[in-house]
Amino acid sequence: MRLSIARAVLMSRLPGWRAGVRLAAVMASRQVDDVIVVGGGIIGLSIAREAARSGLRVRLFDKGELGGEASSAAAGLLGPQIDLEEEDPLAALGLASRDLYPDFARSIAEESGLDPCLLERGTLVLARGAEEIRAIDRQASFQRSLGLEAERVGGEALRRLEPSLDPGLTEGLHLPRDWSVDNVLLVRGLGRSAERAGARLVEGTRIECLLVEGGRVTGVAAGAEAFRAGTVVIAAGAWSLEIGGDGVPPLPTRPVRGQMVCLGPSTVPVHPLHAASCYLVPRRDGRVLVGSTMERVGFDKRVTAGGLAALAAAAIALVPALADAPFHSAWAGLRPACEDSLPAIGGAGAPGLLYACGHLRNGILLAPITAQIVGRLLRGEDPGIDLARFDPRRFETPMGGRSTR
Ligand SMILES: Cc1cc2nc3c(=O)[nH]c(=O)nc-3n(C[C@H](O)[C@H](O)[C@H](O)COP(=O)(O)OP(=O)(O)OC[C@H]3O[C@@H](n4cnc5c(N)ncnc54)[C@H](O)[C@@H]3O)c2cc1C
Repeated sequence: MRLSIARAVLMSRLPGWRAGVRLAAVMASRQVDDVIVVGGGIIGLSIAREAARSGLRVRLFDKGELGGEASSAAAGLLGPQIDLEEEDPLAALGLASRDLYPDFARSIAEESGLDPCLLERGTLVLARGAEEIRAIDRQASFQRSLGLEAERVGGEALRRLEPSLDPGLTEGLHLPRDWSVDNVLLVRGLGRSAERAGARLVEGTRIECLLVEGGRVTGVAAGAEAFRAGTVVIAAGAWSLEIGGDGVPPLPTRPVRGQMVCLGPSTVPVHPLHAASCYLVPRRDGRVLVGSTMERVGFDKRVTAGGLAALAAAAIALVPALADAPFHSAWAGLRPACEDSLPAIGGAGAPGLLYACGHLRNGILLAPITAQIVGRLLRGEDPGIDLARFDPRRFETPMGGRSTR
């Protein structure tokens, strides 16, 4: 269908998704899928794999490369206990997801031929000074009251666990079930595995808006093309706020930059280490990831001299031998955040639409449980977990718009 010149001029003056909504209204549709997933990070790929494995016709779009954003920038800590010291709405979700990891990692390795290197060594949380020591004491007793394994270790016992530590560090918390995974390999494996299950993965295609007909989301628009599906799942990470439709305002997400320094190869440390100043995550190939900053600087993925210097100094203060490790590389990624720092999982806006975004610092950890929940919702089943705190409708205002504070 041809656009009138007046309409095209009008559209060219409308920013972002609003212009897309009008363009979509005049486009002819193409194939119909059961599910369209917008975003090929760990969340979107895990959902695509899960949905395809249950026999649904799935198509996933990514504006760039699969896993090219936060999911590859991450450190891969699977640590729901790392800073758990009081009731936390994320705890149950994180612990349930961690329990799914051994099977998740093993089946992805089998399906894809890529081992994501799940490292089940346990994480050490380190404390310096009276306040931090009190905090790990509180953590230990709170976690044990929940039946979780959390062992206070100090002095020689700590040194036996991790001989590379700075001698000034004498107090720690050993969390034997907080693990790590190589998220880059995992995301690559997930892509292969989702394709093998039948999902079609489309890179380099930016979804501009949702198609909404009769009050229902019926698909998405990309450039001059429309793609239809029974359900659209938005898993576009920090960019989820760019995707809306007629009468369906976008979910207010925002980016939180994290810078990362990679050192090595080095033989130390052996465990993932977590301290107030930084965390260290050893990889199987000898690299050591040092993270990370939490910065609200918009969609700016540059690393800064200050950020990298602070991370390197903090790493050496924990493990002095790292002063001699070669510098390997550095990068930054954009964590997807909702305004209350909790993820948004479930339906909102209109029938035919699900969200799975805003996983902030825990998207690698939360991928298996998010995929399981969204898979159940797609099949019309009970999600199996109380989603009230993660309901994307919590951002809707009485006027029907979305709070953008
Ligand atoms: C430095 C750093 C360290 C981290 N460490 C950890 C950790 O140790 N453990 C942990 O659990 N989590 C960690 N995280 C958080 C974790 O990386 C994220 O929560 C997770 O990757 C979010 O996954 P996602 O799929 O939602 O987003 P992303 O990985 O950002 O994927 C979103 C995808 O959507 C695509 N997209 C966006 N807009 C569109 C569009 N309009 N059309 C089509 N495609 C689109 C993007 O190209 C992107 O590929 C860390 C993050 C950072 C930055």
